[in-house]
Amino acid sequence: MPQPAKPQPLREVLKQLFPNQCLLCGQPGQTTCKPCLAGLPWLEHCCQRCALPLSSRAELCAHCLREPPVFQHCLCLWRYEFPINGLIQRFKYQANRDARTFLETQLSRAVGIYLAQCDRAYDAVLAVPSHPLRRFRRGYNPSYQLAKAVSQYCQCPHTQALGKSRWSHSQQGLNRKQRLKNLSGSFSVHGPVAGQRLLLIDDVMTTATTANVISELLLNHGATSVDIACLARTPQHMSS
Ligand SMILES: [Zn+2]
Ligand SMILES: [Zn+2]
Repeated sequence: MPQPAKPQPLREVLKQLFPNQCLLCGQPGQTTCKPCLAGLPWLEHCCQRCALPLSSRAELCAHCLREPPVFQHCLCLWRYEFPINGLIQRFKYQANRDARTFLETQLSRAVGIYLAQCDRAYDAVLAVPSHPLRRFRRGYNPSYQLAKAVSQYCQCPHTQALGKSRWSHSQQGLNRKQRLKNLSGSFSVHGPVAGQRLLLIDDVMTTATTANVISELLLNHGATSVDIACLARTPQHMSS
């Protein structure tokens, strides 16, 4: 069970004095003021399959043309750059409730719009799981919070069919072979996914290796399809 966010008394006092402040520039007004919202690094052009930021008008990145991932589509909101990286870190590592509300709302709306535009539906939403020890240290799993919010907004069941059975070290700085070795056997499926169209939620997608490994596992357990939704994407592909 996720632990509630730790209270931050000073922040609460400031919030009472200045009830509405922009999360990014601190100006009084809306939680995120219009100029700050417009200035976020929205991911406008990216690979239709893995959401890798692209400078050209191509639909797929060179990696997906050569060896596409097993998931069908990745919906991603931003490039992982300033200032959204700071906001995501406040959500992930400081349990900042305003950042969390903003990010949950943005991702939920984006998934809702995507479903309406593409006339798609999911049978279940699930989060990239974190190891119990990491959850204990952090107090909660950010992807789980996002998945719950998306599930409620889109009125799609939230399932916890995925587990993280083995500790894996951070994927940062590892090459493709090392990342696959680091992740192999670390996830497990312990709920029904057969015949389901699934939406897997992650907070930040770096190389897409984790998303691909989990998607493969879900498909091997009979899932019909897996899509990914995440907040932000770094410009690195799993094959690099
Ligand atoms: Zn602002
Ligand atoms: Zn791609």
